[in-house]
Amino acid sequence: MTTEIRERAGKSKDIIKKDGKTFFEFTNRTTAFDGVKKDEFAHKGEICCKLSAYWFEIMESEGIPTHFRAFVPPNTMEVKHLEIIPVEVICRNFVAGSLLRRHESGDAVPAGIEPRLGAKILDPIVEFTTKFEAVDRPIDHEEIMKNGWLRREELDSIAECTRKVNNIMKRRLSDKGIILADFKIEFGKNSAGEILLADELGTPDGCRFWDLDSYENGEIVSLDKDVYRYDKGDLSDVYQRIYQRICE
Ligand code: 5GP
Repeated sequence: MTTEIRERAGKSKDIIKKDGKTFFEFTNRTTAFDGVKKDEFAHKGEICCKLSAYWFEIMESEGIPTHFRAFVPPNTMEVKHLEIIPVEVICRNFVAGSLLRRHESGDAVPAGIEPRLGAKILDPIVEFTTKFEAVDRPIDHEEIMKNGWLRREELDSIAECTRKVNNIMKRRLSDKGIILADFKIEFGKNSAGEILLADELGTPDGCRFWDLDSYENGEIVSLDKDVYRYDKGDLSDVYQRIYQRICE
């Protein structure tokens, strides 16, 4: 008899260990604002899993190492076992979300950036936040190194990899009439100490996608979890539509 060990990986995924293999199961659980808002939506797990598999395969083909091994339909992927690095990496091409909220509560925005929803950021920003604290907070390079989480050269290589991922996703999405406003990614280390792209990738849970035509006409139309965060529509419908626009 094989035993299966299941534990939570973040708010919407489960990790399953079975027969010496590691699997990520994408569930229909949805949370926002650090767990203050919680719901379940049909087919969400399946859509995020298929999109992640789609993007991980693209990254591998572009020479970016990832934890992805195989898509296991309908909502699971086999992944390489990694030790997760306890920071999240955010890349921003446009002003939105917590960048704007931080500004509204008194923080300065980085030089050259207009603090307005939808303003374009000419030189994309890469930021780090904590992962395992009750509320994610921005963390600077010095604190990450002081905690012994990453060395200087590892931080630099993660930032460079994040910019590459950004360029690859941005270009492909733009061909489909979609703006990649910002996104979050995570990394882990394998037993040889190599850093691999981990978690999920290019899903409407972890990215802000905006419709390009609407943006050019002066309106921001969200095709991502902001429809749930700000009650702007039905999450299952929006996720189905973004999946079709990206993958079909
Ligand atoms: P913000 O910091 O503006 O709230 O989020 C920046 C980007 O990171 C957005 O695309 C958002 O969806 C993503 N993001 C932030 N926190 C999380 C998180 O805990 N999980 C996921 N999947 N994405 C996140």
